[in-house]
Amino acid sequence: MDHFLYRDGALYAEDVPLSEIAASVGTPFYVYSTATLERHFKLFDDALEGIDHLVCYAMKAASNQAILKTLAALGAGMDVVSGGEYARAKAAGLTGDRIVFSGIGKTRDEVRMALTGGIRQFNVESEPEMQVISEIATELGAIAPITIRVNPDVDAKTHAKIATGKSENKFGIPISRAREVYALAASLPGLKVIGIDVHIGSQLTDLAPFEAAYLKVAELTEQLRADGHEISRLDLGGGLGIPYERSNEAPPLPADYGALIKKCVGHLGCEIEIEPGRLISGNAGLMVSEVIYVKSGEDREFLIIDGAMNDLIRPAMYDAYHDIVPVIEPAAGTLRQPYDIVGPVCESGDTFAKGRDMPPLKAGDLVAFRSAGAYGAVMSSEYNTRPLIPEVLVKGDQFAVIRARPTFDEMINRDTIPEWL
Ligand SMILES: *Cc1c(COP(=O)(O)O)cnc(C)c1O
Repeated sequence: MDHFLYRDGALYAEDVPLSEIAASVGTPFYVYSTATLERHFKLFDDALEGIDHLVCYAMKAASNQAILKTLAALGAGMDVVSGGEYARAKAAGLTGDRIVFSGIGKTRDEVRMALTGGIRQFNVESEPEMQVISEIATELGAIAPITIRVNPDVDAKTHAKIATGKSENKFGIPISRAREVYALAASLPGLKVIGIDVHIGSQLTDLAPFEAAYLKVAELTEQLRADGHEISRLDLGGGLGIPYERSNEAPPLPADYGALIKKCVGHLGCEIEIEPGRLISGNAGLMVSEVIYVKSGEDREFLIIDGAMNDLIRPAMYDAYHDIVPVIEPAAGTLRQPYDIVGPVCESGDTFAKGRDMPPLKAGDLVAFRSAGAYGAVMSSEYNTRPLIPEVLVKGDQFAVIRARPTFDEMINRDTIPEWL
């Protein structure tokens, strides 16, 4: 459920008509709903009620400071995957004990930054990384709390580019070698083993792969405890999918996911951490764009809009589907017609949808891409020297620009000219 609904024939974000935001900030833009962000965070938090837990928002999905502050105010922790994200979490007011550092390629500088600034735990993904964390912690006279990310060799049945839990993926250490790697961790100075981490992929629409992975983690917990390790925290990653195509998708609800977690690992007495990204911000954001031209091709109509693949890359990168809806609600009974919906970038991949049935649209009309709040703005670029599009946050009847569109001069002046020119 989200808070983008039609009222009197016009699409609103909470209590603000999208056309009003468009008139104020120009198109294209991203808009997020505070109520939806809060609702989704609380769904996860409630799903784990009765068990010691922390929901760490995976900020790579949408990392605007205003979004982070909205979630932090509800008690969220943050999952970060780079020094930049760590700095963002700190800037949003989070203390180190609510920041988890994931990712397979943490650099020495990033490890030092987190150990100096405070960290809840590192999710370690390899032996060489573990050596580096041990070395730097020792040098700083610190103790680094760690979990080790195990790769459970489970097929997440999701898009190949976002599956992470099969043995062929680059993530984690094979679960079959876990005991050996935990023994190494216990022997190194500067480290404190506190638990196990797993994350098998993103946009999972079935609970079965989660169940397979968490049962393996439960078994491993008991083995590692028998080996003498203190396993007091299980980080179960993110990955729960959202319905991109609302007419025919119904992924599991956070409540069912929480029940599954309790069933698989609830008896172990561990603190549970989860790291949802997409399910918190995905349906809390839209991308709004204006039709520039309607162009008749040989056998099809092209809807050329001012948003493009540089603004929302998911269709080009993952063949992702987004519901695209007109901002003015079509009258009941309006006949739909197929359009190829494309952006202005000079690549055929800059196509959002082919043969998509839409009510008749004309230049100047606004369309909204649903479920664009995760992996949207954060993956955007300035390809074709198109400015990063603004982000807007709505709360009730208020809205605010939370990232402004840069001017052409601001973009160009980031380049510097060598002396010899
Ligand atoms: C991407 C990622 C997440 C978030 O995944 P979602 O599918 O957006 O919930 C969580 N943890 C790790 C380690 C990740 O890489």
